[in-house]
Amino acid sequence: MNAFKMPALFIGHGSPMNAIQDNTYTRNLAKLGRTIPKPESILVISAHWLTRGTLVTAQEDPQQIYDFYGFPEQLHRVKYPATGSPALAARICALSPDIGGSADWGLDHASWAVLVHMFPNADIPVVELSLDLKMPCRRHYALGRALAPLREEGVLVLGSGNIVHNLHSMDWEHPDAEPVGWAAHFDDEVRLHLLDRDHEGLMDYRHMSGAANAVPTPDHYLPMLYVLGMQGEDESLAFTHEGFQHASISMRCFRIG
Ligand code: ZN
Repeated sequence: MNAFKMPALFIGHGSPMNAIQDNTYTRNLAKLGRTIPKPESILVISAHWLTRGTLVTAQEDPQQIYDFYGFPEQLHRVKYPATGSPALAARICALSPDIGGSADWGLDHASWAVLVHMFPNADIPVVELSLDLKMPCRRHYALGRALAPLREEGVLVLGSGNIVHNLHSMDWEHPDAEPVGWAAHFDDEVRLHLLDRDHEGLMDYRHMSGAANAVPTPDHYLPMLYVLGMQGEDESLAFTHEGFQHASISMRCFRIG
């Protein structure tokens, strides 16, 4: 087995429009893709695939899913023809008996809107892991921990969500709008907890100020817990992008390792 450990990433993905835009955020994604060693395969924990129980895509050729409405036609023409990896799906199921294979999904925009910038050639197999929102935070974190050996097997693990994700308070017209106060505050609290390696505090985020607004539903926050579950005792964390889009979406991204 290769002793080298791939980094683990948390990526704030925000609006699918980022897939076709050139901005500071997308340039930082591209830079991140160039900076890390090329993975053999990629596992994305997706904020956009919600299931009962935890599933992993097991197809050879996953479909690309355009899981949004009311966006320009141009966005529907973005193609990200990455293959799947039944072998990686089987390995994931072997690492955790709680995870099952599925042929009913594919790659949603939590994957391709990010990967189109990081690995534009789409020549690395990608599988997605779903989220079961009924599970407590601790279980999500533990699943991340169970999957940590993948990092030593050439797999890039990427949690794709957003630390602050409030669609109700979004300024849809202005991507560069100043963040609203509670959003900036919560994002900064999370930043400090991340730097302190306070995983307990981050699992207990409901007690943090502004949590009800910042995380109205847990789907975009939970992918981060999988990545934290993979953080080794001696591993530091580095932010690869910070900032907001549309006033209430934190685009904060970080890498571990
Ligand atoms: Zn999203």
